[in-house]
Amino acid sequence: MIREELKNKPFFSFYYTKKDIPDHPTPTPIRMKCDVFYLDETATTIVFLFSDVTAIVNQEKEAREKLEIALAAAEQASLAKTQFLSRMSHEIRTPMNAIIGLDAIALQEEGLTPALEDHLQKIGISARFLLSLINDILDMSRIESGKMVLKEEPFNFEELITGINTILYEQCVDNELDYECILKSQTEETYVGDVTKLQQVLVNILGNAVKFTPKGGKVTFSIEQTLKRHTSAHLRFRIADTGIGIDESFLPNLYQPFSQENRGKTSPYGGSGLGLAISKNILNLMGGKIAVNSVKNAGTVFTIDIDLSLSEDEIDKATLQSHLQPLDTLIVDDDVVVCQHTQILLNEAGLRSEWADSGDAAITKVQEHHQVKKDYDLILLDWKMPDKDGLMTAKEIRQIVGPEVTIIIMTAYDWAEIEKEGKACGVDYFMRKPIFVSSIKQAFEQVFLNKKEPKLPDNRNVFDFSNKRILLAEDNAINAEIARTLLQNKKAHVEIAVNGEEALKAFRDSKPNYYSAILMDVRMPKMDGLEATEAIRALPREDAKLIPILGMTANAFQDDINQSLAAGMNEHLAKPIEPLLLYRSLQKYLFTVK
Ligand code: ADP
Repeated sequence: MIREELKNKPFFSFYYTKKDIPDHPTPTPIRMKCDVFYLDETATTIVFLFSDVTAIVNQEKEAREKLEIALAAAEQASLAKTQFLSRMSHEIRTPMNAIIGLDAIALQEEGLTPALEDHLQKIGISARFLLSLINDILDMSRIESGKMVLKEEPFNFEELITGINTILYEQCVDNELDYECILKSQTEETYVGDVTKLQQVLVNILGNAVKFTPKGGKVTFSIEQTLKRHTSAHLRFRIADTGIGIDESFLPNLYQPFSQENRGKTSPYGGSGLGLAISKNILNLMGGKIAVNSVKNAGTVFTIDIDLSLSEDEIDKATLQSHLQPLDTLIVDDDVVVCQHTQILLNEAGLRSEWADSGDAAITKVQEHHQVKKDYDLILLDWKMPDKDGLMTAKEIRQIVGPEVTIIIMTAYDWAEIEKEGKACGVDYFMRKPIFVSSIKQAFEQVFLNKKEPKLPDNRNVFDFSNKRILLAEDNAINAEIARTLLQNKKAHVEIAVNGEEALKAFRDSKPNYYSAILMDVRMPKMDGLEATEAIRALPREDAKLIPILGMTANAFQDDINQSLAAGMNEHLAKPIEPLLLYRSLQKYLFTVK
């Protein structure tokens, strides 16, 4: 048998334990090792080499035990760190709520001196920055502890992109940068995935592009669906800037937490160095990829590749092939790239389209078509063009073609200021750039079928809640005061309940439809906001099911949001309450959703 073993290998070893050896220096039992091999190549004599390995084995055992203890300690520390961070975040957010809320209220005061207004604005900016830092650190710790979970939910792609563009246009205007968002191919109306996290990644990388690009530069965001399979699609986002670029030597550290190339040189609000680490981790979780190309002092391009599932609807639609009838369309934009991309999009959707790169060129084309009695069905005009802007062009075109041609102004900017003038010039509709085929279809149908006045997305932030009574359930006196003042500033009547039990009682004892909405803190003594909401929803009265209940908590993680919705809340507002978000949510529920 030994010879059998030695056929295939030059030697082998085995271990055994020996007990009670008289006069042996080490305490019993002892571990023995025996190495077995041939003495020489003739393979006649077998050597058995015995050695006492007790000391080595004991050392190994000790080392393993130490490692196990260290691992347990590390796990314990990591858990403690996560719990600590989560607690701290809650504790820090509560006073932050007071700072941001009171700052917003102070800014609403009349008669502020410019210097005071400037200080208050800076307090607000710093407080929000501090908050974003807390969120970043928490995100990072959730990723490190494997606790970040992604949602798989259908979301509207156009809403995602429009939302991102609204944020970015504002940032670019503030920083005197040019911003362009280009849709390079058709995209689906709905994808399935974690839209909040995707937005976080895109806004972060776009935000960096803005931050690291000096005045007068340009940030370009392009979107392309490069592949569509039966149940999923591949999307590519490209974020290019003409900024300071990244040194080659820094590239290997780019995605490391807390790494910054220009530490100290950037603005005081220069970030934590966590954004890219978080983005990369989120993309990893999504099965996506991020790549960078950069030239120092010339600019940077980040490319994000990601697969998103298609929703059931999209899969059905692909088989249904719902198309626009072949409308004749004219695209007018001084940026030829925009013209070309829009043309590709429209052609893919089955529209016939041509383009012109100035107002005058467009008018000539419209005249030519009119003379041969083949007016365009739809004209898409950029608002801001040199020489003749969109409004002037629309006015002249309208004089040529009459009312049946649909004229749409496309703009990256807020159109509230030109809405009235636009209507007077004969504009039917305003749309945000970049143009999505689904919105064109909607707009065209609405205008063409001469339905009721097309409902324009509300760009103005005018809120008036007079005659609305709001029940505010909040145990923290400062927070309650802030929310009350914010609401009263917009003329709402506010009644306060200091816990869930009181809120439930107030609602139960009220006449039907006495309250217009409930603002419900989640963490409250006696009865928390979730229980109170469930109890209110279960009351046997008509308005109990209908009254809008908006939850508020400092814990704004997805799990918390899900819990609030499951309890029957309509929406979940993260604390510190942002006045504008609060007003917008209330506006939505008080005036549109029935
Ligand atoms: P932060 O922006 O908070 O510093 P990030 O993780 O988002 O953290 O970015 C890390 C670093 O990468 C930045 O500090 C900067 O040095 C570099 N960086 C990221 N994006 C760009 C860009 N578009 N242009 C130049 N440098 C960039």
